[in-house]
Amino acid sequence: MERAEIRIEFVPELHVFVNVRRRAGRSAVTTDGSSTLGHVVESLGVPLTEVGGLVVDGAAADASHVPAPGEQVSVLAVARPQRLPGPPRFLLDVHLGTLARRLRLLGVDAAYESTDIGDPALAARSADEQRVLLSRDRGLLHRRELWAGAYVYSHRPADQLRDVLSRFAPPLAPWTRCTACNGTLREVAKTSVREHLEDGTERSFDVFAQCTACEQVYWRGAHHEQLSGIVAEAVAEFGGDPDGPAAPAAPDGPLHTSVAAQRRRPDRAAAGPTPV
Ligand SMILES: [Zn+2]
Repeated sequence: MERAEIRIEFVPELHVFVNVRRRAGRSAVTTDGSSTLGHVVESLGVPLTEVGGLVVDGAAADASHVPAPGEQVSVLAVARPQRLPGPPRFLLDVHLGTLARRLRLLGVDAAYESTDIGDPALAARSADEQRVLLSRDRGLLHRRELWAGAYVYSHRPADQLRDVLSRFAPPLAPWTRCTACNGTLREVAKTSVREHLEDGTERSFDVFAQCTACEQVYWRGAHHEQLSGIVAEAVAEFGGDPDGPAAPAAPDGPLHTSVAAQRRRPDRAAAGPTPV
């Protein structure tokens, strides 16, 4: 194959991925003459999950296009909000536990394993369950078997949350999901969860919710103010009901985990009642 020199430029949103000398307009790239444009873009550091379009000599092109000598290429970022081929459901890699709990606090379906199951297993789960893999690991986002993926641009949880919400605009339903396991919550009577509670909690609180998956019990606890702040900020910008389900005695949210539930499930303790 004859090598081909093309000129390529990246929109500013993608500059974080490319070498500094490729951030100031078009720069030359010599390809092997057979690689696809998608491969060339990836080899320059940009995950294709972040590419919203490719323009070759003024016309839209596919990632499968094989560049010819002299072509002028522009690489565009994904549009926000990004449309998905299915409902917005997520899978977060092992480094994004705080983001996972915050998404769940807002009622967004966010699967997460606190142990590292490895890149192939994560990618396979993304495909099996049609979940968008969220990661700051570009290598993981390059994997072909992903159903969909997205790079998380910040290392700060507050910025990560805004990034994901602005990118995918998932419907928000605060206080409806278990922050520990991603299960859905249901309102429960105090009498039905008494066994999970310590005396002080039972005396001080009247509204409880329980996870339908892991049975953890939640009530308005010490972290309520911090959690309410996260919810209020997200809802103000991205919509949703800050008070949660409309039922008159709606649960105040996944705020505190029962001691009994933690004792039964020591593997969940790390993800339990900690602030998100
Ligand atoms: Zn749960």
